[in-house]
Amino acid sequence: MFRVYKFMVRRTTEPMIDMTGKTRVSFQTCQGIIDFVKIEMKAKRITLKTQTGQRLMEMFDLMFAHFGPRHWWPAETELEVIVGAVLTQNTNWKNVEKAILNLKERGLLSLKALFSASADELALEIRPAGYYNIKARRLKNLISFIEDHYGGNLASMLEDDITGLRHGLLSVNGIGPETADSIILYAANRPIFVVDAYTHRILKRHGMVEDTVTYQDMQELFMDNLPEDTRLFNEFHALIVETGKDYCRKKPLCDKCPLGIYLS
Ligand code: SF4
Repeated sequence: MFRVYKFMVRRTTEPMIDMTGKTRVSFQTCQGIIDFVKIEMKAKRITLKTQTGQRLMEMFDLMFAHFGPRHWWPAETELEVIVGAVLTQNTNWKNVEKAILNLKERGLLSLKALFSASADELALEIRPAGYYNIKARRLKNLISFIEDHYGGNLASMLEDDITGLRHGLLSVNGIGPETADSIILYAANRPIFVVDAYTHRILKRHGMVEDTVTYQDMQELFMDNLPEDTRLFNEFHALIVETGKDYCRKKPLCDKCPLGIYLS
């Protein structure tokens, strides 16, 4: 969990050079979390030497100042995170919540119950999440993977090394990089950056990636330029989703967006 920060938001007159070389007025925000990250980086002997790293942290800073901590992932257990990561594909979180509530009420939100239930039974309960037949099969595939590879021991799976766990999750039919990385970051609490469609849209609109950029390229953009910090990656992805949902829609609302300063 994130520590409790004392938020401080202030505008400075100090100019900032952006990625395009333009000088912009800088916001110095959320001093608490910036100081925290600096301390973490110092401890790890990591510094944000790259311009991209500095730019990303500025973006983080602006979004964090605007939205505050997101407290992700919204779930009570690791298994709930995993189920949610599968159900959230191509739908909004409110629908996922309804589906998870159904599973809870039917006593299906345990590894044993999910393993025993048929795909049809699960599909019935997760209907609100959409694509329920496909998602039920994906859930079954994932639960079988945990059974087969970790003897049904979720803790053992979550303690596996990141590379092995990611490789294994990606071998499960229906589990792609975003779902696998969400499980690793939010259920296993390990430092990996989750990329989604909002990440792509925001980076592209800010001229930081090409349209054809791959998931891996975007993930490396963050992971090569930021300190390897689970709490930072957790909050950063959550803030990107919030910014995407509220402002960076198909028709962007840049004038209200915390990142609008870059495009004004
Ligand atoms: S809404 Fe505009 S300012 Fe905000 S992230 Fe999207 S492109 Fe950037």
